[in-house]
Amino acid sequence: MGYLEFCSNCGEKNQFGEKDGNKRYFCSQCSTIHYENPKPTATLICMHQNQLLLVKRAVDPGKGMWGLPGGFIERGETPEMGAQRELLEETNLQGSVSNLLGTCSHFNTVFGDILLMGMEVQVEDWSTLKAGDDAEEAILFPFDELPKLAFPCHEKIVNMYRQKSLS
Ligand SMILES: [Zn+2]
Repeated sequence: MGYLEFCSNCGEKNQFGEKDGNKRYFCSQCSTIHYENPKPTATLICMHQNQLLLVKRAVDPGKGMWGLPGGFIERGETPEMGAQRELLEETNLQGSVSNLLGTCSHFNTVFGDILLMGMEVQVEDWSTLKAGDDAEEAILFPFDELPKLAFPCHEKIVNMYRQKSLS
């Protein structure tokens, strides 16, 4: 674990241990605590005529595998804004969030803990579909013939949608 080795405030070496009720990195020089909260992502379910939009991941983790479009919500963004931006970046589509399906926690990834927010997105115009940023391909798959997805949380979010659409 190298990336929190030093205090980002004063440059001293951090300590790791019990602090404010949890194990944390903190600086014994200036007392700055380096919190490691889960990072929220917008993870998108975009359906079109009983097909689901998937992207082939161009970068690790999960490079070369299929996954749901989406990514980390940036500073200053709401989840809905993050969803729209990621959709446009990865698939060149414009859409709007219609439903929050649920969340899935993925612990100890290369990015730390991630909180995936599964969101249903409505796309008006599919004619602009084109793989972009971080995506090798972006394709609609028949919902009952999906490939194996890159992450268990993506499978779980697909299942949340399946449950909701059946009920
Ligand atoms: Zn410090």
